[in-house]
Amino acid sequence: MLEVTNVHKSFHGTEVLKGVDISVSKGDVIVILGPSGSGKTTLLRCMNFLERADQGEMDFDGLKLNLAKAHGKEVALVRKRTAFVFQNYNLFSNKTALENVTEGLIVGRGMPKSLALEKANKALMKVGLSDRRDYYPSKLSGGQQQRVGIARAIAVDPEIILFDEPTSALDPELIGEVLGIMKQLAREETTMVVVTHEMNFAQNVANQVVFMDGGVVVERGSPRDIFGNPKEERTKQFLRRIV
Ligand code: ADP
Repeated sequence: MLEVTNVHKSFHGTEVLKGVDISVSKGDVIVILGPSGSGKTTLLRCMNFLERADQGEMDFDGLKLNLAKAHGKEVALVRKRTAFVFQNYNLFSNKTALENVTEGLIVGRGMPKSLALEKANKALMKVGLSDRRDYYPSKLSGGQQQRVGIARAIAVDPEIILFDEPTSALDPELIGEVLGIMKQLAREETTMVVVTHEMNFAQNVANQVVFMDGGVVVERGSPRDIFGNPKEERTKQFLRRIV
């Protein structure tokens, strides 16, 4: 469904992505693991043009484009077909939960307000927040704010949801409710690419694990292979430290 190849990206002369490939099929849950600074977030952001790659190609179900040179229309098309869940939720603080979800539908996609409300209410119900729809983010817990972030992603009916460390800003007791929603989405065969340090999620929910270090993919495979039988020394070292 989505293939990105040979992605390169530098910041201030330092190359943080050194030719990364990633291939996503419909229904995949791909978890990207790796030490801090290995380029995971940058890769995810390049896939949605939140960051502009210096080089790389994308094939999105036959739509072929150059990640470095794609023009506005192509970028808009990719953004329309994907959704992004941010580490720090990125909610509008002056809008309610419901308004945060409808905003992208009405302003971003030109949807009539009544349809946007219907979709937003449905998405909020799915993340268990119907009773909080008129709350402002400051009145919600971190876990609830991130569930609004996920509702906002679901509401646009994306083909792929990109999750950038969705639980890493949360207090430990709030992580479970967000992972629970993500597991539910996986069960419904939502296509997801997830950057996370949650090893249990990677082991139990992902069908493919990609291990990155130093701006390259070191190893990829099923969770069983990566966790049970890693081939590369760098993967073994990382897992020894973290599991
Ligand atoms: P990870 O997600 O694996 O922790 P990142 O993709 O966030 O890694 O970062 C990779 C490297 O790129 C880090 O050294 C980080 O400091 C650097 N980096 C990321 N974004 C920027 C930016 N906008 N400007 C400058 N450097 C950046």
